[in-house]
Amino acid sequence: MSPDTSMLSVFERIICGELAADKLFEDDKCIVINDIHPQAPVHFLVIPKKKLVSLMDAKACDQALLGHLLVVAAQVAEQLGLKGYRLVANNGQSAGQTVMHLHFHVLGRKTLSEQGLI
Ligand code: AMP
Repeated sequence: MSPDTSMLSVFERIICGELAADKLFEDDKCIVINDIHPQAPVHFLVIPKKKLVSLMDAKACDQALLGHLLVVAAQVAEQLGLKGYRLVANNGQSAGQTVMHLHFHVLGRKTLSEQGLI
């Protein structure tokens, strides 16, 4: 019998491979996917594999993981040729969080190639 995944968030279902996503990067600690409803020309999400509901759930033992997520965000942004970007995390429903699994949004406008710089 397959496990009941009905209680999992959409990101957990993507992490466990049940749902497909447009994946940009993956390692043992996180995945990076393009947002399904992009709010900017480049809009990707950096998602820890560890279940943290939001930053409000983070403990001192999560320090290295949180740093890793930021470094991965910067590396993927660089690989996509972004010359600047906004990094946002909505924490809690009152702040607009809709998926209850921590994630960082990375939003960028034009890539260097789109601007004819490379
Ligand atoms: P937030 O509102 O901060 O919780 O952000 C959740 C984000 O997840 C939104 O920008 C959604 O567009 C995005 N999202 C929801 N489902 C998917 C999915 N299946 N694949 C990619 N992004 C998704």
